[in-house]
Formats: sequence, C-alpha cells, structure tokens
Amino acid sequence: MQNHEAPEHNRSRALFDLIIIGLVIVILTTIHYTNYHYEVDYHILLQFAYYLPVIYAAMRFGPAGGIISSFIITLLFIPLMTHMQSSLTPAAKYTQWVEVGLINVIGWLTGFLTEEERIAKRKYQLALMVQKELVEKLKREGQERERLEGEIRQTERVTALGHMSAGLAHEIRNPLGIMKVSIQMLAQEKFGDGVVSEYCRILLEECERLNRLLSEFLSFARPKELLREKIALGELLDEGVCLIQPALQQNHIELERVRSELDQKEVEVDPDQIKQVILNILLNAIEAQGIGGMIHLQVVEEEGYVGFAVTDQGPGITQEVMPYLYDPFFTTKDKGTGLGLSVVHRIMDQHGGKVTISNHNERGARVGVLLPLV
Ligand code: ADP
Ligand code: MG
Repeated sequence: MQNHEAPEHNRSRALFDLIIIGLVIVILTTIHYTNYHYEVDYHILLQFAYYLPVIYAAMRFGPAGGIISSFIITLLFIPLMTHMQSSLTPAAKYTQWVEVGLINVIGWLTGFLTEEERIAKRKYQLALMVQKELVEKLKREGQERERLEGEIRQTERVTALGHMSAGLAHEIRNPLGIMKVSIQMLAQEKFGDGVVSEYCRILLEECERLNRLLSEFLSFARPKELLREKIALGELLDEGVCLIQPALQQNHIELERVRSELDQKEVEVDPDQIKQVILNILLNAIEAQGIGGMIHLQVVEEEGYVGFAVTDQGPGITQEVMPYLYDPFFTTKDKGTGLGLSVVHRIMDQHGGKVTISNHNERGARVGVLLPLV
C-alpha cells in the first residue's frame, strides 16, 4: 500500500514523475517548433501525443495534475496554432480548437475519475480495517467470556467443596472430642503403666493437632461476621502477647515489645479476630526461629493506617515460596496446616487492612499488618 511507504520515498517518486511529464511536454513542443515548416497534417498527428503526459499527470496527481498540464500545453501550443491558421481550411481550424478544448477536458476528467477511484479504494481499505478490528474484538470478547465462565464454574465448585468440607470438619470434631476424653480417662486408669501412658500422650498430642487443624480450617472456611468495637491497638497487642507467652517460654525466645505513643491509636475491629491474626503471625515467627533468640513486635503507621510489624531471626522466606504464602494448605512445615496466613489474609481483607511479608535486612522475616484508622 502506498501510505505504508516512507514519505521521503513518496516525495522523490512524485518529483521524478513530475520531471518525466515536463520532459515529455518539452520534447513534444520542441519537435513542433523546430519543424514548423512541415505539413499541417504532421502537426495535427503529433498533437495527439500530448494526450500521453496529460493523462499520466491526471492519473498521478488527480484533477489538478490534469488541468495544469493541459493548460501549460495549451499555452505552449497556441502561438504555433495561430501561426498555422492561415494555411488551414475552416474545418481544420475548428478541429484544432476542439482538439485544444478536448485535451483540457480529458485532463480534468481523467484526474476526476482517478480521484474518485482513489477515494473509493481508500474507503474500502478503511472498511476492511474496521471489519478486521471488529472481528478481533469479537474474538477477544469471546475468549474473555469463556475465561469468566470458567472462573465462575471454578468458584462455584470451590464454594460447594468449601461448604461440604466445612460441614465435614464440624462433624469430625465431636468424635474427636469423645476420643480425647476417652484417652484421658484411659491414661488415668493406667497411670502406673509407662508404655500405655506414653501411647496415650502421643494420642492426645495427635488429637490436639487434629483439633487445631479443624479449628483453623473452620475459621478459614466459615468466616464469622465481624463484631467491631473501638479499641487501642496497644491493648490488642498486649493481649496477643499474653496468649503467646507459654509458646515463647517453651522455646526460650524473648519478645521485645517496642512501645510508642502509637500504641494509643484506636482502630475499629473485631478484637477476637485481630488477636487471631497476632497469634498466627507470632506463632509463625516462633516456629521459624526455633529455640532461643529474640522477636520484635512494634506498632507502625502509614497514611490512614496503623498496625504492627513482627520481625524474627529465623531463616527468612525464599523467593520460591513467596507467591504461595497465602494459599490455603500451603506449608513448608512437617506438622503445619498451611492455614495460618490464609486466615490472616481473610481477616485483614474483611477489615479493609493490608498484610506485607518480606525478608528482614539482616536475618529473618518481617510480617507487617496495617488497619485503617478510625
Ligand atoms: P503453617 O504455619 O501451618 O505452615 P502458614 O499459613 O502460617 O502455615 O504459613 C505458611 C508458610 O509461610 C509456612 O509454612 C512458612 O514456610 C512460611 N512462613 C510464614 N511465616 C514465616 C516466617 N516468619 N519465617 C519464615 N517463613 C514463614
Ligand atoms: Mg502458621
């Protein structure tokens, strides 16, 4: 297509054509004038050759090209024509004038028709382009619809599965409770028997683990309605720290609670749920750290938000697992449930807050939580 070529190339092409047209006109006119003594018929015959540059100019440059070239030819030819008048019969004289008129009309007409055709072609190309775009758009929309429908189907399936498994988890809890009580009774009954006591201890531990999995799963799969109240963030943190104390002592970990005036900032949250967030994050820090060391807990703020950050001295988080941290059941621990951070994420979503997890500069991970200010 012409409009795809470089404009520079187009310009030099046009100049070249212009020169050729001019050259042909000049050559023809020169032949006329250098041979004016020849027969009149010879000139009339040669005159037809003028149609060539006119038609080409009209086709190449439109009506303007046709009109200008035929006008120039008329100007150049008139002196010779008037010179020849005396030797012409009246019929030949009229033919001459008609010839001159005709070349002008043909110049204009050819240019006009070429231009019309060019416009039609351009319109057609435009229509073709619009049609192509439309087809593309329809195709894209079709794909998008298919994707959305697939997503909806997937969500429906997951929701149904969630309902079912939450029901199942709930049902497992009762027999588990009965098992736990029975094992405790058995342990009391066989108090002196070392082997039985040891098995009972293991059974109880596993029951406890299952129970925790069920609780975490249920709090993930069956989100509770938020019971919001206004409370100072520092107070929430203190309660969370209180609850985690046994785990800290067991692992000989020191918790440094950095206090500041930000502790007084109020948030409007469901205290139980936020305490669960604090616990899950602190538990992860403890589990990452193992025995000994120090965990930092401090209040942080950002525009419109206030929250806390937990920094541990564990191994930190590798780049490979980073994208999956919030996925339910994703865990790198032997006895993990992989639900802690999913629950954290869901609760923060419900509160309009944010969670960020990154690696600490020196060592360990940093988990930050931000809640909207009242
Ligand atoms: P779980 O603790 O049961 O494994 P979570 O959802 O709480 O499940 O955590 C998911 C995973 O995120 C963990 O298995 C661990 O790999 C990673 N993770 C979470 N917190 C930390 C942390 N403080 N340091 C290192 N890794 C962490
Ligand atoms: Mg966890």
